[in-house]
Amino acid sequence: MALLEVKNLKTYYYTLRGVVRAVDNVSFSLERGEVLGLVGESGCGKSTIAWSLLNMVPPPGRITGGSIVIDGIDITKLSEDDLRKKVRWKKISMIFQGAMNALNPVFTIEDQLAEPLMIHKGLSKKESREIIAKLLKMVGLDETIMKRYPHELSGGQKQRVIIAMALILNPDLVIADEPTTALDVIVQAQIINLFKQIKQRYKMAMIFITHDLSLIAEIADKVAVMYAGKIVEIGSADQVYGNPLHPYTQGLLASIPRLRKREEIRWIPGVPPDLSRPPPGCRFFPRCQYVMDVCRKEEPVLKEVEPGHYVACHLY
Ligand code: SF4
Repeated sequence: MALLEVKNLKTYYYTLRGVVRAVDNVSFSLERGEVLGLVGESGCGKSTIAWSLLNMVPPPGRITGGSIVIDGIDITKLSEDDLRKKVRWKKISMIFQGAMNALNPVFTIEDQLAEPLMIHKGLSKKESREIIAKLLKMVGLDETIMKRYPHELSGGQKQRVIIAMALILNPDLVIADEPTTALDVIVQAQIINLFKQIKQRYKMAMIFITHDLSLIAEIADKVAVMYAGKIVEIGSADQVYGNPLHPYTQGLLASIPRLRKREEIRWIPGVPPDLSRPPPGCRFFPRCQYVMDVCRKEEPVLKEVEPGHYVACHLY
């Protein structure tokens, strides 16, 4: 049985301007220890998927359809109390976008890391200290950091603390939403290396959310490309990088600068659609160089083009 099974998930925002279909009929699964890279432009619904997986979509959003089954439990059917006690941080933990700036300035790192251990595991502060010291070492920090306050740490150190926090209850799945944004490129590389070590050591499933396809090339086993609230292509990392099928995936890959090839960088013309009024048919058609009549009328569904490699496009 897969660790995570998301089926026909719909998460909409009910705004004064209309219903924004941020995540519209999305399905995917994840095995234990597998790393999924979820990629797409800003506003395509990636972060809304992350919030949905914790059943914590901020209002005016809510999950309006589908199921999210983790370890046999459909979290869309759980009460808020059960979600807090059984799922969040224990089964699924999340590294929120910009979370390093959300560390509480008036508590030491030790206080902040000890809290989940004391609440969820009933440990004393002294018992928590040993676990925290080990975990800080694992994320590449000296244990003396635990006595410091967030303002005494660099951006990279704070991000490592946030990663330690996400791992502290040893969850089955960690979701990292743009975990390297706002860090300089050297620190970005260090943080990606840290995730690689976590993957090898803990065999933990991870969902890595990013707008940058090149960032997850080395870490993801599987890649899902999202466009305008839908997954348009999903397959193993080798399939998606080596044989991108959807014109949008091809455009994303062509926009990455290459170090060793003298290739012109291309970009995708146009902007993503307004998700309160998405175009009929294929949502990518206004920007697609291969658009056909059928694309304007019929919505393409995900089809398996080679084993494990799915694409939603009328070209296939
Ligand atoms: Fe382009 Fe048509 Fe494929 Fe959409 S379905 S990506 S418009 S070819």
